[in-house]
Amino acid sequence: MKIRITVLEGDGIGPEIVGQALKVLKTVCEIGNIGLELDSQLLGGAAIDKTGAPLPAETIASCKASDAVLLGAVGGPRWDSLPSDIRPEKGLLGIRSELGLFANLRPARIFPALRDNSPLKPGIAEKGVDLLVVRELTGGIYFGRRGCEMVSGELSGFDEMRYSEHEIERIARVAFDSAQRRRKHVTCVDKANVLESSRLFRQTVARVAANEYPDIALQNMYIDNASMQLVNNPSQFDVIVTGNLFGDILSDEAAMLTGSIGMLPSASLGASGFGLYEPIHGSAPDIAGRGVANPLATILSVALMLKHTFGLPEYARAVEEAVEKSLQTLRTPDLLEAQERSLAGYISEAFGAKKTVIQAGTDEVGDYVVQELRTLLVR
Ligand code: NAD
Repeated sequence: MKIRITVLEGDGIGPEIVGQALKVLKTVCEIGNIGLELDSQLLGGAAIDKTGAPLPAETIASCKASDAVLLGAVGGPRWDSLPSDIRPEKGLLGIRSELGLFANLRPARIFPALRDNSPLKPGIAEKGVDLLVVRELTGGIYFGRRGCEMVSGELSGFDEMRYSEHEIERIARVAFDSAQRRRKHVTCVDKANVLESSRLFRQTVARVAANEYPDIALQNMYIDNASMQLVNNPSQFDVIVTGNLFGDILSDEAAMLTGSIGMLPSASLGASGFGLYEPIHGSAPDIAGRGVANPLATILSVALMLKHTFGLPEYARAVEEAVEKSLQTLRTPDLLEAQERSLAGYISEAFGAKKTVIQAGTDEVGDYVVQELRTLLVR
């Protein structure tokens, strides 16, 4: 097997965290005898500095010629005052649309070692959170007709929310396929009691389920209820499928349940398994260059890549297991701070629980994960 990956380090902590993820990917490829071809390209602020544009044509061409893309993060205060069409974020939205990435997958999971980090009450966190938000990424209200016009003598702004059957069918299939590899349960989240587009969303998801996925249990939930259930009883969720707007909000809420933004990977998928893999966090300019960024979200993005684009779930599981093992021994400062802030962390501190993990930098965490991975895979 031979794979070709385009690497977009981006800005801020991007190069630091991508460096660790590449160590992990190279280790998997070495042990699994997989040929690995890497092509580094520019995106975001780094691309603006070198070429004047946030998304150079060469970057697009390289991504299109690859099997998958690994991305760090883009942006930073240096480029904030530029006009909107040459800002780093333009490069990010541009590459997603150039590559036709219509499905955004965001798994949110509390690693057992990080239970104390969750802002959830200990009784709820103990039941576990292990869910996947599948968000439609290229349709809905973010891409509908929009405008601001004078109506009856005052300004009136509008955004159209529109979904067509083919857009709903393809995102539904991504959700059901994902559920088949998980606990076989899908919750369709919408506002079908009020919105026509939601009614079509719900009906279409139900039709795809009935015709193509009889083995999957499908449940419907309104968005307002889903946002309450996420904090009150998150262990009930396996896969959540939803539109662009609701998915944007719900996936951030789900992310926070796990305790640190530095832990959450994501996959944006197009047709035929092609994917762009990146952490959900930004370029963290406040800590860039200090060697303290948490690389685990980017390392876990490699696990998603192995699973979704390359069909190698056993290696993906090994990477996740190596991450869990590393958390039992050493952690970057963001994780230690999150633990101090959480209720469970506060209680165990107050009762004098012995600290068993040590603080470590980006490189040390990456090296530790690689070492654990080797132990797991070379037995
Ligand atoms: P951010 O996610 O970069 O940072 C928010 C906070 O989380 C900061 O305190 C940061 O230090 C911390 N943090 C983030 N990732 C971390 C990690 N891996 N380890 C430890 N701590 C981490 O969000 P922001 O500050 O709102 O944005 C900073 C820049 O990133 C902006 O230019 C923004 O536009 C950009 N951004 C890019 C993306 C992306 O590339 N996908 C996403 C969001 C924001």
